[in-house]
Amino acid sequence: MSSAASAAAVIVAAGRGQRLGGTLPKAFIPLAGVPMVVHAAQRVAQSPAVARIIVVVRGEDIDLARTLLTTYQTPKVSSVVAGGDHRQASVLAGLAQVGSAPVAVIHDGARPLVSPDVVTAVIMTASQTGAATAAVPLRETVKRVEGATVTQTLDRERLWIARTPQAFQTDLLMQAHHRANAEGFVGTDDAVLVERLGQGVRIVEDAPQNLKVTVPSDRELAEMYLRPSPPRVMRTGLGYDTHRLVPGRPLRLGGVTIPSPRGLLGHSDADVLAHAVMDALLGAAGLGDIGQHFPSTDRAWKDADSIELLRRVTSMVNAAGWRIVHVDSVVLAEAPHLAPYFASMREHLAAAMRVDASSVSIKATTTEGLGAIGRHEGIAAHAVATLEAAS
Ligand code: MG
Repeated sequence: MSSAASAAAVIVAAGRGQRLGGTLPKAFIPLAGVPMVVHAAQRVAQSPAVARIIVVVRGEDIDLARTLLTTYQTPKVSSVVAGGDHRQASVLAGLAQVGSAPVAVIHDGARPLVSPDVVTAVIMTASQTGAATAAVPLRETVKRVEGATVTQTLDRERLWIARTPQAFQTDLLMQAHHRANAEGFVGTDDAVLVERLGQGVRIVEDAPQNLKVTVPSDRELAEMYLRPSPPRVMRTGLGYDTHRLVPGRPLRLGGVTIPSPRGLLGHSDADVLAHAVMDALLGAAGLGDIGQHFPSTDRAWKDADSIELLRRVTSMVNAAGWRIVHVDSVVLAEAPHLAPYFASMREHLAAAMRVDASSVSIKATTTEGLGAIGRHEGIAAHAVATLEAAS
């Protein structure tokens, strides 16, 4: 379409909504505190292809509709008009207000979750081809039934469910409505009137959540979509560990064996960094500490690979309903220089925790010769883990 906003939208909201119960006209029933037709109009207005909106309601509801659309600051509404006895008559009443707009887009006020992108897509398609409807492919098997017996199974591959929005070149839609009225034909959507003229109607795949609110359970589902997502539950855990340096042991840090004349002494492989990370994870998940899960009195953990233990801790944390968001750490060591091994250590820790390496941070510092670590007697590590409730 050459000009960005040249379509007129007709939102039909003249239905009684008896299946939803209550006394309010269907379109005014609130969803998450806002009337259904206001949701629909606000979303249609978000399409840059829509220049203005005509809302069609029952005659006795015009004042209420105007008040609500103003109260909820619904943009682009140019008129609120009275509908007819059935949907087709209501659309025609709205079309009378479309004026010179080259394309008219029709939308049901009972579809409050319409995607503005789909509104734009049907308008663009109709402006090029004449007519377009939002639709979703059928995902279930459909049977033709006579009495209580299946007589045919329809080919699902060729069946789509038509929804609104539906857009048309305005002249074409006017002609289709006038022909239908002259012939006494009443359809359940506007596309069928255009199809009767022998004109093709193009399909635009709709967003799944654009449901039609008809029965109370639809209302609950629509409100679920509209409700703001709950705040994310986050937890933080702290871990600390230290091991003594002795000759004749390999130096394992973050799952990497680092060339060194001395290594860390311990019941397991004494990977002080992996141990600090495990305690941080267990702490954040409220699952105790590694001493409790892998006691040094248990021969099973003699010379254990701490990366394997970290894998087990990750499974425990995940099983408790937590997702690992990030782990930060710092190793306190006077020697050797650890920076060349950071990348490999991150990879090993991340793989064990089943997260991306970008979610693992490793830093190192000396203690400037101060204290036991400064005297090369041992290495220590601190870690902080951030977890998010899985859902
Ligand atoms: Mg330890």
